[in-house]
Amino acid sequence: MRIESIECYPLSIPGHPYCGGHDTRKNAGQYGSYIESQHYRALYTMEAQTLLVKITTDDGIVGWGETQAAIVPQIIAQLVDELIAPGLIGEDPHDYAVLRDRCYDRMRDRGHDGGHFCDALALCDIALYDIVGKALGKPVHKLLGGAYSQEIPCYVSGVPAVSVAEQADHIREWQQKGFNRFKISLGYGVKQDIAHMEGLRKELGDDPVYLIDQHWCYNLNDSIRIGRAFERLDIALMECPMDSENVAQYSELCAALDLPISLGEEFRTRFRFKERIEANALDIAQPDIGRLGITEGMRVITLCNAASIPCAPHVGSGLAPYAAASLQVAAATENLFLLEYQPTQITVADEYFTPSICPRDGSFHLTDLPGLGVEPIMEKIEAHRMA
Ligand SMILES: [Mg+2]
Repeated sequence: MRIESIECYPLSIPGHPYCGGHDTRKNAGQYGSYIESQHYRALYTMEAQTLLVKITTDDGIVGWGETQAAIVPQIIAQLVDELIAPGLIGEDPHDYAVLRDRCYDRMRDRGHDGGHFCDALALCDIALYDIVGKALGKPVHKLLGGAYSQEIPCYVSGVPAVSVAEQADHIREWQQKGFNRFKISLGYGVKQDIAHMEGLRKELGDDPVYLIDQHWCYNLNDSIRIGRAFERLDIALMECPMDSENVAQYSELCAALDLPISLGEEFRTRFRFKERIEANALDIAQPDIGRLGITEGMRVITLCNAASIPCAPHVGSGLAPYAAASLQVAAATENLFLLEYQPTQITVADEYFTPSICPRDGSFHLTDLPGLGVEPIMEKIEAHRMA
């Protein structure tokens, strides 16, 4: 079996802003359809943008991959076309790890050990696993050594609302559907964040499990102040309170708090995790399979496992191949904490891929479908392909 063709599908689907609670914006129009939110520091998209790849073998097997490409997916597509596809055509998809590492190495002199180039690697890596799974008639988790559980516990990410009372209502609705773990997007200020979580505890009691995403908003002192309050409120983890470049400060933060500190969503290689594991600069790792790919993602998970660090795979904006790859990896993760569930993203994904992988009763559920277990609805994909 040889790789015969590689075709990218950058998509832009209007009317589906990525929704993590950042519903206010500034500088509208300055970056086209991209926006800056009022509180956070990154650009966000007002459309559902992503990048899919279709890799076809000489015996007719088609694999699909996806990277987390919420902005400029067409740039990553060009990297695939010009820098990665030439190294994959004619090769055996079973060699996915060697192929990934050789592509990575070809950019060593160029300094492309992160960012969009690694996203392009992840994209193709995921598609190769889909192909090999389909060739064997097995789901991808079987290629990774099997599933530790058929049910993968997840948390609801975001729960956007304009007030504590409204958010509490949304959480009650989720609880009625069997979900009781929630990631709350904060980073509004020390007093505001503490008051927000005190308010939710008052509204809903001690039962819900809360994870807090701080979106890199604080310095060390403020992170410790918020963290001490969150310990009293029995918060399960605090994600990215500070700039993640500051390894030494994360070491101090982890030492100062019993509250678990998590990070990792923006890292594209195992080396970024290794230096933080060695520095005791994280308590829970959040590898993002849409940025690492499956090969590198499993390496990260193994590193974490050896250091007794639980993994909570991060899942951001994207469609079904990205979410399905994350699910397959989570199933094969012995040290799994929780998998992220993005309801707004899965809702869009279900319009473009089949069958649905939407979780039920607080967990994703594995199937025996080969590869990633999802197939595109091509008319829908073609309709939103960027020029
Ligand atoms: Mg985050």
